[in-house]
Amino acid sequence: MLKDSYGRIHDYLRISLTDRCNLRCTYCNPVELPRGYFAGTKRMTADEIDKIVSIFVNSGVKKIRLTGGEPLIRKDAKEILQRLSKYPVRLGVTTNGVFIHEFIDIFKQTGIQSVNVSLDSLMKEKNNSITQRDEFDRVIRNINLLLENKFYVKVNMVVMKKVNEDEILEFVEWTKHQPVHVRFIEFMPFSGNHWSSHKVFSHKEMMELISSKYDFIILPEIKNDTAKRYFVPGHLGTFAVISTMSEPFCSGCNRMRLTTDGKLKNCLFSKSEVDILGALRNGHDIVSLIKNCVATKEEFLGGQFTSRLEGTDASKIQNRSMINIGG
Ligand code: SAM
Repeated sequence: MLKDSYGRIHDYLRISLTDRCNLRCTYCNPVELPRGYFAGTKRMTADEIDKIVSIFVNSGVKKIRLTGGEPLIRKDAKEILQRLSKYPVRLGVTTNGVFIHEFIDIFKQTGIQSVNVSLDSLMKEKNNSITQRDEFDRVIRNINLLLENKFYVKVNMVVMKKVNEDEILEFVEWTKHQPVHVRFIEFMPFSGNHWSSHKVFSHKEMMELISSKYDFIILPEIKNDTAKRYFVPGHLGTFAVISTMSEPFCSGCNRMRLTTDGKLKNCLFSKSEVDILGALRNGHDIVSLIKNCVATKEEFLGGQFTSRLEGTDASKIQNRSMINIGG
């Protein structure tokens, strides 16, 4: 069992398959960032991912999510899904949705039930301007394809002031006729993404806006869930808020993150990383490294934030860019 010094049991691993992405979202992978650092031997192979996962599963991991970069652009993504499907874990994928049509069958074969798709605007032009690519139609088609095939679809929208906060009500309206589960994510600071507290549209602001149009009920909390979930009676889907910045939820955290170059982060905002891949390649014991990494986790947002959002100075946060961590 992987337990930290605050008694939190860590049984959820997010694995970044690549730090490359076919989109250049302004808040995640802005055009001025270099295009993916880790290729060739710097990156975990499918075989290494499989070996590392077997060790995490033996240490109590019950849930694995593949992310990136864009996990579905990795050439051996299907092989990796197949290899990981043999483990007794809930396997999920977070994707920008562009290549889902090529993966529907493998998702079914590997028992994936829930797919998270990122979509920051329901307006084609605006979405293309955020992602810096013209893929909106394909993403919408692929969300519909997932729904037709009865997948549980969560749609991640990063809400940014003066960019897309004016579409929150449209996203809630979408849940009326489609069983989509929209998650409004507060904008978070990472290296190179021009974050400022003024651009964060907070959970409180979202709820004020939504309650101006909808009566909703609060859904029961799911253990370790990062999202506060809501439901408008009569709608087919739900909506939720991930309030990392204004109301962090670290007390229930059960997550670890493995970057594509095989470094373990005990928090999305951790400064330190543990080189699991290097240790595996040198034949060292990685169980003790993993245990120690979890044991030394900070109580709250990697120990890098003040409790007040306005007091957060993004330039002082030591971390990778989001695309480089694996969101
Ligand atoms: N390429 C995949 C995708 O688009 O979903 C997976 C990787 S992406 C880094 C994972 C999630 O992180 C996405 O839902 C994205 O919107 C979110 N994300 C990225 N940068 C963020 C930021 N600065 N603040 C909040 N969420 C962010």
